[in-house]
Amino acid sequence: MSHVFHRHCHHLPPTIASGNGMYLIDTQGNEYLDACGGAAVSCLGHNHLAVLDAIHRQLDAIPYAHTGFFTSESSEALAKMLADLAPPSINHAYLVSGGSEAMETALKLARQYWVEVGEPQRQHFIARRQSYHGNTLGALSVGGNAWRRAPFAPLLMDTSLIAPCYAYRDQRPDETAYEYGQRVANELEAMLLEKGPETVIGFIAEPVVGATAGALTAEAGYFSRIRAICDQYNILLILDEVMCGTGRTGRFFAFEHEGIVPDIVAIAKGLAAGYQPIGATLVSDRLYEAIASGSGFFQHGHTFMAHPTACAAALATLTTLEQEGLVDAAEQQGKALKSALHHQFDSHPFVGDIRGRGLFLALELVADKTSKRPFSPELTLHQTIKKTAMHNGLMCYPMGGTIDGRQGHHILLAPPYIIESTHIAAITDKLALTLEMCLPHQ
Ligand code: PLP
Repeated sequence: MSHVFHRHCHHLPPTIASGNGMYLIDTQGNEYLDACGGAAVSCLGHNHLAVLDAIHRQLDAIPYAHTGFFTSESSEALAKMLADLAPPSINHAYLVSGGSEAMETALKLARQYWVEVGEPQRQHFIARRQSYHGNTLGALSVGGNAWRRAPFAPLLMDTSLIAPCYAYRDQRPDETAYEYGQRVANELEAMLLEKGPETVIGFIAEPVVGATAGALTAEAGYFSRIRAICDQYNILLILDEVMCGTGRTGRFFAFEHEGIVPDIVAIAKGLAAGYQPIGATLVSDRLYEAIASGSGFFQHGHTFMAHPTACAAALATLTTLEQEGLVDAAEQQGKALKSALHHQFDSHPFVGDIRGRGLFLALELVADKTSKRPFSPELTLHQTIKKTAMHNGLMCYPMGGTIDGRQGHHILLAPPYIIESTHIAAITDKLALTLEMCLPHQ
């Protein structure tokens, strides 16, 4: 019996023993090709010596000191590096221990900003239906994921949800992709007018939607229209790059593809590549200065924030990404993986859409390609696919996404940026075999 409280109470996964590059190995000696970085975390692959060395050096010097008493060289250097990577208007990083904490920080910071500048009546967030921003109550409040929210709904903050940009499902035959993007972005304006813009704190979105919709990119022009609406009505734009950030899309920040700059952006998963738990909330000068020159104190904080060992791991990760040209590699290898997926699955009867950017890609599964009807949620296909893929030596990330309130299915691929062409071939082969074993035969 396991005394660990596993998320699936009746399912004990294999026990991990070691890792090497693109592979993880369990205690039975089974090897798994990592095509999803866990949950888009392991951007450097496993057991990268540069990161291990940096962690060891930090442990030898000082593993931890509370931020109420000390700052650390590793946290200062990490925040500086993030400020250098960010657009010129973003110069401060609030360092926490993961994605939910980073989003929770973003929400509280945005609220405190309006209190500091004398607009405490702003209490409302607008977010999108196909989105996940974390499992803490604040982050869950602004997420659109119905099944995750359901048991906790009475405890959640009141948030208004609008449609995401989901062209595969929602673009009409009589409009171009651009027109569709503008139409759906204008839902933000409509919601603002309904709620009263002076009551709204900000709008929250993942630039590329991860777990709830499967590497869903927006149509060109969507996010610039969103930014323009936020500016026109003076609300904050908060981007969640916990999953899609830190180079995964082929730019360090996914918003760089959109030509916009947010007021706040959260990053986490790839920040220390899984070698340590860490997240960061990057804050624009406008917000930082309002708090610094106002009360001078952000009403927030965690015991393990700016943890020196986690910061050392993140610093080594970012340095390695830069030195090994891995963000460019994510773009190049992403193109190669996407075209291999098209080659393998374009004519597959149950693969409705292949999408994503860089090494953040997904297949949307449908029971019928013409009507785009999803498979029944009762099939819990995502669980069967995950188990079968593991059996076939492949780690991929199948999820039951939400489509107009119904459950659909997709498979997310987010491999380490060190991926090579042999791995790409092995991923498509193993995935094809897995689908063959899991989906009905025509
Ligand atoms: N935001 C997004 C977009 C995520 O994908 C996740 C995790 O999957 C989170 C926030 C929450 O991060 P964490 O699980 O580290 O708390």
